[in-house]
Parts: sequence; C-alpha cells; structure tokens
Amino acid sequence: MKAENCYKWTGPLPTTCIETEPFWEACNQERFLVQKCRDCGEVQYHYRAFCCHCWSDAIEDLPISGAGKVWTFSVVEVNRSPQFAEWGMYVTGVIEIPEGVKVISRILTENPHHLRIGDDVRVAFATAETGQKIPVFVASENSSEDR
Ligand SMILES: [Zn+2]
Repeated sequence: MKAENCYKWTGPLPTTCIETEPFWEACNQERFLVQKCRDCGEVQYHYRAFCCHCWSDAIEDLPISGAGKVWTFSVVEVNRSPQFAEWGMYVTGVIEIPEGVKVISRILTENPHHLRIGDDVRVAFATAETGQKIPVFVASENSSEDR
C-alpha cells in the first residue's frame, strides 16, 4: 500500500455540525477521536455531545492509537452510486479498536478477496479535494501474504 498521507478521497464528504466539528478538525490533524465518559468511564464512538451509556455531558476526547482488527467486512464489487464511481471494487467493514469500540470504515487493501476477519489494520487519512481528511483503515499486507 502507499505510504500514509498519500491517499486521495473521492467519496462523499461529511456533513459537519457543531457537535461533530471537533472530530473532523482532529481528522485534519490526522488524529482519530473516540470519547471517554468521566462519569461512567465508558468509551464511545461515534463522536457526539453526550455519553450514550449514562447521558452525561462530561465526556472527553480520547485519541486512538491507530491499531485495529477487522471485525467484519464486505467487498463491494460494484456500486452504481455516482459518489462512488471512482472507487471500483472496495471494502467496507467494522474495525475493532483496542480502546474498546468498533468503527465502521472503508478498509484499503491491495487484494480485497484476501482480507480476513481478525486481520490487522491501521488508521490512515485520505485527503479530499476540499482538503478535508477522511479516516480510513489500511490492511497490513503482511496479514494476507500467508494465504
Ligand atoms: Zn457515561
């Protein structure tokens, strides 16, 4: 795969609001944020203004290490939506991260049909034409070499 920071994003762009702007601004600094509740201690994703476990607003940002494992995934052979026209075959999946939550994301891999549940992935950021950075997860090619 390409070196980090070389990925181009050609898919749909996020619609941000005051609640999610800190997440997207952190992405532009190549930091992926989940949140931890100071009242109940639970970690949550996606980014929001309150704890989804206890409804507290005493939540803080928790940047992830970037590591993850494929929890499940789908290989999309054809997507006829014009927003995905440049993608060709792609993988979307659920990534389990050690911070304790699962993240839905695009997974970049050289060979989608060699990807397996449990493979190591690492967060990276793809840059859209607008300059907005979008998190993706990149499969470790070493995970697939043995197959
Ligand atoms: Zn809580």
